[in-house]
Amino acid sequence: DFGLITELIREHAAQAPTRRALVEGERTLTYGALDALMNRTAAALQRDGVQVGDAIAICASPSIEYAAVFLGALRAGVAVAPLAPSSTPESLLRMAADAQARLFFLDAGVAAALDAAPTPATAAPVPRIALDGSSAGGALHDWLAPEGATPARANIRPDTPFNIIYSSGTTGEPKGIVQGHGMRWAHVQRGDQFSYGPNTVTVLATPLYSNTTLVMFFPTLAFGGTVVLMPKFDALGYLQLAQAQRATHTMLVPVQYQRIMARPEFDRFDLSSFLFKFSTSAPFSAALKADVLGRWPGGLIEYYGMTEGGGTCILEAHLYPTKLHTVGRPAATSDIRLIDDEGREVPRGEAGEVVGHSPGMMTGYHGQPGKTREAEWFDPAGKRFIRTGDVGRFDEDGFLLLFDRKKDMIISGGFNIYPSDLEAVLREHPAVAEVAVVGVPSEAWGETPVAFVVGRPGSDTKADALLQWFNGRVGKTQRLAALQFIDELPRSAIGKVLKRELRERYAAP
Ligand code: ATP
Ligand code: MG
Repeated sequence: DFGLITELIREHAAQAPTRRALVEGERTLTYGALDALMNRTAAALQRDGVQVGDAIAICASPSIEYAAVFLGALRAGVAVAPLAPSSTPESLLRMAADAQARLFFLDAGVAAALDAAPTPATAAPVPRIALDGSSAGGALHDWLAPEGATPARANIRPDTPFNIIYSSGTTGEPKGIVQGHGMRWAHVQRGDQFSYGPNTVTVLATPLYSNTTLVMFFPTLAFGGTVVLMPKFDALGYLQLAQAQRATHTMLVPVQYQRIMARPEFDRFDLSSFLFKFSTSAPFSAALKADVLGRWPGGLIEYYGMTEGGGTCILEAHLYPTKLHTVGRPAATSDIRLIDDEGREVPRGEAGEVVGHSPGMMTGYHGQPGKTREAEWFDPAGKRFIRTGDVGRFDEDGFLLLFDRKKDMIISGGFNIYPSDLEAVLREHPAVAEVAVVGVPSEAWGETPVAFVVGRPGSDTKADALLQWFNGRVGKTQRLAALQFIDELPRSAIGKVLKRELRERYAAP
């Protein structure tokens, strides 16, 4: 069973042309207007000779135009490479070249950054089109096919590339991951278990280039609901928007939940319209999940997975209040296993690297066969899995406890130390708002743990006192060599703590 998300949007436009598809600030785009814009985009791409299987790049702040061009390209069978505006200009040009983008849709901010880059593009320059009415490129409205244009029907198959998403680059250079129309379709098909429908109002306050956002964006539109874009997140603004829009669904990363729950005004907002809230992409502490469950109406779903698509774990937190310290159980279509350093499966109950298989997993990293091979693992029967680089353990009920990324694990005097264990202890101290533990080189132990702490406002606990408190509560091997307060943890645009930056910062304070 295979269909097209863009065809579902066409049907909604025919049945309910005035229903809202997209909202951004004061601006609204109805299904009728969205469908027409998608047609004009698809027809313009065909006019320009951009074919099924070719790609375009989009790098801009989330907007109605961004969403419409993305969906219009899909209608023409053209893959979209949505790029992170926070990337360095060099990285942006590298990704656009890697995706072999035929056109580059951008806004003024991105154009300014690109033009200020010291190194000019190595590849042939790609025509630029401005999404925001600026002079960042040709004007979108001149480029679009005339009003009323209809594109030729594109021959799209399940393996036709839908998008090329670059991984977050948390651990190194981002890697291009191709997802096909078939995978996105299969995912949308599973959306009915989360009550998506024409009355859905999904507030999205994370960037459109991230799979975190897209896993909500496509199902909402496929089921005829409304996507409310919040281009720049702030906790109070989010609460006002969610209340005003009578939001039913949302996706937030853990640090956003934390900032929202910390607002003193939280309990004054009426959030009774919510059916489901989602989270993914970074560790979500059990205490924070409990706080969300206790004070925010509706279910709470946590996903654990990776852009590469090697399987997903799902925690329906509202159904399993005793499992909040886990990321849930493998989804029905996912096969998740744990392996040791030699690539053998570990006995049940022991920790190992998480590897996953799912019908929607990537065929490989775009143009990087070497990196692809490193990411693959095959079971003795030859079944293909993708390595996550994360370390985890299954509990007796089959729920996955996630520790850390393998690269962040600390090996001290021959002992494995999981930074997440130490972080959990530190978080119990009332002075601690956010914390990250990293390993730094040590002559005596090889590596030794140090902690970076963001203090709670108004608390005057000193670093020395906190260090002593901590070291008095853990075993000898887990003791911290140092603890430092900092104003803010370095985070990626999607809110992941950048531990490699903390390690560098410690080496060169
Ligand atoms: P890169 O691979 O470029 O270093 P990345 O791994 O951060 O970046 P993504 O594919 O966006 O890129 O993120 C997947 C990773 O995010 C997982 O491997 C895991 O480390 C982390 N992650 C995802 N969901 C969760 C979750 N629910 N809890 C904890 N960590 C999570
Ligand atoms: Mg990764």
